[in-house]
Amino acid sequence: MQQLQKNFDSRESLIAYVKELAPWAEGERSYIQGGWQKAEKKLASIDPINYARTRNFGDGNVTKLSPYIHHGVMSLNEARNYALTKCSEPLQITKFIQELAWRDFWQRILSSHPQWAWEDIEPYKTGFSAENYSDTLPGDIAEGKTDVACIDAFIHELTATGYIHNHARMYLASYVVHFRRVKWQAGARWFLKHLLDGDVASNNLSWQWVASTFSHKPYIFNLENVDKYFGKLVDTSPLTNQPLHASYEILLALLFPNLGGHE
Ligand SMILES: Cc1cc2nc3c(=O)[nH]c(=O)nc-3n(C[C@H](O)[C@H](O)[C@H](O)COP(=O)(O)OP(=O)(O)OC[C@H]3O[C@@H](n4cnc5c(N)ncnc54)[C@H](O)[C@@H]3O)c2cc1C
Repeated sequence: MQQLQKNFDSRESLIAYVKELAPWAEGERSYIQGGWQKAEKKLASIDPINYARTRNFGDGNVTKLSPYIHHGVMSLNEARNYALTKCSEPLQITKFIQELAWRDFWQRILSSHPQWAWEDIEPYKTGFSAENYSDTLPGDIAEGKTDVACIDAFIHELTATGYIHNHARMYLASYVVHFRRVKWQAGARWFLKHLLDGDVASNNLSWQWVASTFSHKPYIFNLENVDKYFGKLVDTSPLTNQPLHASYEILLALLFPNLGGHE
């Protein structure tokens, strides 16, 4: 068996080595760097107290620890124990610990129901059945060339860096499944191809949650919501984001016409 090289003079020589091993790997290099030292530095910079108040905002205090956790560089316990040293009272960081627990929860669900990785857990609650959804991701989404500016910005970030904010993941998943009527499986495969933290449990079960095959209703959003949380970071002008520029009432009627009177 081929022994892999472990030590490199520079990141450049590591990147050249990886390219040699995986010439098919596409895309730009991410700003996120691997290894325990980088993970430790990231951990030292977290702000678990302000996390709860700001985590839904694109520029909020999220940690970007997920690539390290996913690759086993850091455990959930290490993240939690360090966060506990940053507060005087555990209740101050409840939300942060709850989010770590979500990861654990998804892992446990999938290990007891491995078939849920790719099978619909329940029917869609959208007024459509699975056959009404396309099996493949449309090319304009894969290329980040839809007619929705903020969606293209999130897609670019996903494909160029391998990381996007949780809220942006929810927007993209909802756009793919509900605005474009594509099966969640196609979207989940696409995310797994690009995410540095790509993890079948957290990813696929979250896609099922957005799709409504693992929740009681579909998750949808509108331009006003994107503007509130990401207005400083992406183009949220109504002119360049027309498909999202409507009230929830109108969007529900447009996206799920068979439901009639959906709350
Ligand atoms: C459609 C969709 C796909 C997703 N795909 C993945 C994936 O492939 N891999 C993955 O690790 N997470 C996934 N998530 C969950 C969540 O978006 C990421 O864990 C989080 O955004 C990672 O960024 P962070 O480290 O800055 O998170 P922070 O907000 O700083 O949270 C700290 C840690 O808690 C855990 N965590 C936070 N939120 C969640 C959540 N909702 N579910 C599970 N764990 C969470 C993660 O381990 C994260 O590193 C997905 C969510 C959605 C909606």
